[in-house]
Amino acid sequence: MSAYRRRVLCCVLVVLLLSIVPIAACPPEDESPILLSLTVLDVGQGDAILITTSDDYTMLVDGGPRGASDVILRVLRDNNISMIDVLIVTHPDADHIGGLPEVLQEIPVLRIVDTGLSAESQIYDRYFSMISTFSIPVSHDRTGSSFALGPATVRVLWPGGDLPKRRNESSIVVELVYGEFSALLTGDVEAESEGTMVQLGLLSQVDALKVAHHGSSTATTAAFLDVVRPAIAIISVGEGNRYGHPSDEVLSRLSSFGAETYRTDFDGSVTLETDGRTWRVDTEHPRVLPEPEHSSDPDTRPEMEGVYCGSKNSDVFHYTWCKHVESIKPANRRAFSTREDAIAAGYRPCTTCEP
Ligand SMILES: [Zn+2]
Ligand SMILES: [Zn+2]
Repeated sequence: MSAYRRRVLCCVLVVLLLSIVPIAACPPEDESPILLSLTVLDVGQGDAILITTSDDYTMLVDGGPRGASDVILRVLRDNNISMIDVLIVTHPDADHIGGLPEVLQEIPVLRIVDTGLSAESQIYDRYFSMISTFSIPVSHDRTGSSFALGPATVRVLWPGGDLPKRRNESSIVVELVYGEFSALLTGDVEAESEGTMVQLGLLSQVDALKVAHHGSSTATTAAFLDVVRPAIAIISVGEGNRYGHPSDEVLSRLSSFGAETYRTDFDGSVTLETDGRTWRVDTEHPRVLPEPEHSSDPDTRPEMEGVYCGSKNSDVFHYTWCKHVESIKPANRRAFSTREDAIAAGYRPCTTCEP
């Protein structure tokens, strides 16, 4: 029952009771709602997502690459968290379980949800031996199962009965729902699993998406985004990683579906906080837009929304740092977040900055 309904019901009861005995009272007006926060931690190239509620429930999704335990344990300590209720291990790749042995060593974990797949790696062996050392119950949840995390519900959307052959495709995908807020966490799934989830009607529109596979071009297809349509997208990715993640293709697809994209390599850890009705985003670092590698002196770069800029009086578009932008009156500037948007609006690239 919502706090509002509870209050209405209570007031009705008070009116009824007042006619009998003048004793009952409403709960205080300032009864604060339970808050849920979801943080995509900046662990470099890998995933670690911490979900906490103000009534003390904690869930960790993945443990990042080797060394991520420092970040995870520090955040747990800073938030006075001494126990993890549920640990979801989306798949046993090293960039998702690397920090887990140390976390399991330090913090009691009540239960684990994983796919049941093993990996032939030292890090997997260490993860597995910690589970038996501490006798942690493990379940292999599949499509259709769900559980409560305090006031929120965690729905397991993927994998189904038969595990896909490739580890990334078998990643556990969950939707976290609290009141009207929802977030989709997709592990490292790729186009095939996304396609099956779309076909089976397992997906719905969400507020926030943890983008699959660090923004790789093998995932986050248009068909998938067409159903999920996130307001914000968060990419967990290491600065200057050797895979070229995230791909420009995925970035422009996200923007063409209207998602505001955050990425841990620029923004640091990204936190969403919600009371189940409204939500807001906080980033560890002040928000900066990705700058092209050949950017000029930052002092001469005009401040402006978007990555590309054109003038209402011409058909040329530029990077926002291009010297020609300075001569465009602010009132006549048009910002574009992608090159495609500028071209679709009838603009051609500047020959000086070559956007
Ligand atoms: Zn990964
Ligand atoms: Zn993977």
